[in-house]
Amino acid sequence: MIDLLSLELGELEELIVEMGFERYRAKQIFSFLYKQKVNSFDDITVLKKDVRKLLKEKFYFNTLEVVSNFQGKDGARKYLFKLNDGNFIESVLIPMENGRYTICVSTQSGCRMGCKFCATGRMGFKRSLSVSEIVEQVRFILKESGLKTANVVYMGMGEPLDNYENTVKSIKILMDENGLAISKRRITLSTCGILPQLEWLKRDLPYINLALSLHSVIDDKRSLIMPVNIKHPVGRVLESLKDFPMPRRKRITFEYVMIKGINDTQEDAKALLRVMSNFRCKLNIIPLNKHDLMGTKFEPTPLDEIERFASYLRDKGMFVTIRKSKGSDINAACGMLAAKVS
Ligand code: SAH
Ligand code: SF4
Repeated sequence: MIDLLSLELGELEELIVEMGFERYRAKQIFSFLYKQKVNSFDDITVLKKDVRKLLKEKFYFNTLEVVSNFQGKDGARKYLFKLNDGNFIESVLIPMENGRYTICVSTQSGCRMGCKFCATGRMGFKRSLSVSEIVEQVRFILKESGLKTANVVYMGMGEPLDNYENTVKSIKILMDENGLAISKRRITLSTCGILPQLEWLKRDLPYINLALSLHSVIDDKRSLIMPVNIKHPVGRVLESLKDFPMPRRKRITFEYVMIKGINDTQEDAKALLRVMSNFRCKLNIIPLNKHDLMGTKFEPTPLDEIERFASYLRDKGMFVTIRKSKGSDINAACGMLAAKVS
């Protein structure tokens, strides 16, 4: 059986033609999948009954089982999904100030990058998601909430570039004009920085919005909080990003979780300024979210100190935002997606 929601339109076309049907049927099916968001061939009413029967024998819908769905005070809604093999993932629907919505998707159950401050990193690694498991988070949430479209950020559980092929393919499916038609400008991939995948991304998905989880530009410090930096040092990652093809008028985002006494000093700000000067970039400071898996080693930097850090950089002409984390009361904020099932 073939996993229907893992197919790009071109692949579906080939399979449909192989089965002896007209090519345009594939486009029809694809459109029903992503525009009408059907979960069964029986709902693809433009197809004759005997055709549907043949399709049912060849393809299956890899849908997700939603276990819970909470809305926090600030409007962020967290979905906990159960995968076929019993593993869990989470996705978040976040309302934005401009009236649009952002869906934050997971690419893995758990994560093997082990960042010390991140709940997903602390829970360990279960497995990478299939293409359909990534795509379905968006399809499901759009359907359930009745939204036509949303921005999509690859910032949920897992490291997208550690599940490279499935991540790229899922983005291509989300972008397809015959389906959800989510434009590249509305999709953001967030990564801790892995090579050579960053190089491949330039070839496979140029002009996508990119966010690098920077957190420190000082090698030793970064290695301490992000073990991935030992194998993929920040200098090499930044070098690779220098010529990343960005959408017009857009900037690379550097994410910077502020941890008290670790990466919030004058030395850190100065080093950061040197790096930022070399990029069309913006810095997104994320106040550290506390969670049970983090232990007691890390504390958030007080807000007035964060403001001071930001002002120093702004005065030098840098773009800096401070993220007001949505969903922290329901454990849906950054780094808190650990699929605590109780
Ligand atoms: N693996 C990818 C994407 C998921 S993490 C990445 O690391 O970029 C999404 C963002 O949440 C990252 O910038 C991550 O560093 C941040 N984050 C992790 N733990 C956090 C915490 N406890 N408080 C605030 N942000 C956190
Ligand atoms: Fe993985 Fe990102 Fe968490 Fe690091 S911050 S452990 S890369 S999910």
